[in-house]
Amino acid sequence: MTFNLIHDAWIPVRRQDETRAIIAPWQITEDYDHNPIIALDAARADFDGALIQFFIGLVQTVIPPKDDRAWRAGLTNPPEVSVLKHAFDAVAFAFHLDGDGPRFMQDLTLAEGEKRGIGTLLIEAPGDNTLENNTDFFIKRGLVEQMCLSCAASALFTLQTNAPSGGAGHRTSLRGGGPLTTLVLGDTVWQTIWLNVLSKGAFFASCCDPKKTSKSAIFPWLSQTRTSEKGTGQTTTPLDVHPAQMFWAMPRRIRIDFEQERRGTCGVCDDPSNRVVSHYVTKNYGTNYEGAWLHPLTPYTEVVGGPPNPRKGQPGGVHYRYWLGLVQVDDEEGGMPARVVKEFWERQVKWSDLHSIMRRGARLRAFAYDMENMKARCWYDATMPLFQINKEVRSEYEAIVARMLRAAVVIAANVRKCVKKAMFKYPKRVKGDFSIVDVRFWQTTESAFYSLLEQCREQSSTGGDLTPLKMEWVKTLARAGERIFNDLSQNKQLEVAEPMRIAKAYQEMRRLNAPTNRKIREILDLPRST
Ligand SMILES: [Zn+2]
Repeated sequence: MTFNLIHDAWIPVRRQDETRAIIAPWQITEDYDHNPIIALDAARADFDGALIQFFIGLVQTVIPPKDDRAWRAGLTNPPEVSVLKHAFDAVAFAFHLDGDGPRFMQDLTLAEGEKRGIGTLLIEAPGDNTLENNTDFFIKRGLVEQMCLSCAASALFTLQTNAPSGGAGHRTSLRGGGPLTTLVLGDTVWQTIWLNVLSKGAFFASCCDPKKTSKSAIFPWLSQTRTSEKGTGQTTTPLDVHPAQMFWAMPRRIRIDFEQERRGTCGVCDDPSNRVVSHYVTKNYGTNYEGAWLHPLTPYTEVVGGPPNPRKGQPGGVHYRYWLGLVQVDDEEGGMPARVVKEFWERQVKWSDLHSIMRRGARLRAFAYDMENMKARCWYDATMPLFQINKEVRSEYEAIVARMLRAAVVIAANVRKCVKKAMFKYPKRVKGDFSIVDVRFWQTTESAFYSLLEQCREQSSTGGDLTPLKMEWVKTLARAGERIFNDLSQNKQLEVAEPMRIAKAYQEMRRLNAPTNRKIREILDLPRST
């Protein structure tokens, strides 16, 4: 008997009454009316982030809604467990984790390669190079020596979905190393899945070649890997594959060693298991995804003369600073929200009750690693509210929100500059990390930003004057900057404080952040007289 990721229970979840369970994918709508599954509950946050994409990919691949009406119906009346079981069963042949035939997310023919400990499938784990150079001081070596099959499957899918650069020929994910993923968040896991699934036609029109219908054009591990050796290998572009492969892309050639499996305790979830694995074999020059991919769950930045660039995690995390490009289009920087976010805005125009279906209102969830080449520095996970916007006022509303955000970006930069001037005699020579200034600035002004959005929406719909709101926003931002300035410039640890220098920098900051400042006036389109 093989371990099958459609038939067998392997996904940890939490129900509304807080009980935990391990389920097979088709059970996701079980007991939906009384005690629905409301969260994934894996041992690691990055596993949860991968597992929700596993579900979205599975549903998009197997049972996409045929049109908008079918989609709307499925949001409140999800398919019965028996329907899902039958539908998913059709692809079960591609989801064996072990056995002699094709194995999920593993290279079909890889017989020899580099043998590695199973713990190196985890993204923060140091690669072999790091071990040699002894730079893994903050990660304990050999921490995960064995994994249960559930964690091994999650680790494998997480790695293939996010693959960072891993040395010569170890290819990155279809969205590059450590992509940013954004989802529209529902109350239940089913709602979240369905809110991020496109109708069949929309998905087929979004990217790739839907006429490539062979099974290996969807699940690449069903045939020999399209390897990418220098000189003799090939690249893989959207024209080579079916759209569904975007969810099942396999940049790394990996084969888990099941011959030495044994009974033991999993090093990730700590559960005892009859089957734990400890090694895998890998080889470089796996599938090299190149070209103009548009993964439906990732925002992109348009690039002149090249394919769009998938957004990645950033130091400092995800917060409203990135509203433009994640939630609405960023005209100036060429930022395009993920396809599923665009779809959400269109759906909320068609169905005005969409927001009220979600108890806490619709929200955007954004998560990513902050990668530094091969290493993950940390994992970010954030949510932002998605307010209901009428079609008639949408463009005016978005234009004003963009202005408000650009003003905030300018004021944040002014604060950083002046804090440096206050603290150091030669601020331009100071190389230190000043991200603390930005992080505090964006954090302390976040709730004010969201209430501003609601006020902007109301003013836009009634045609009211926006000038008072703009003025209030500048003052809020300037005050936040002054508080940060005072806290940091009174910290005397870095250099002897000079009251004169601090006072000068403070005056400069006040001048730069005033609503009368020309730059701010232009960004916000404020009248001269205010
Ligand atoms: Zn485990």
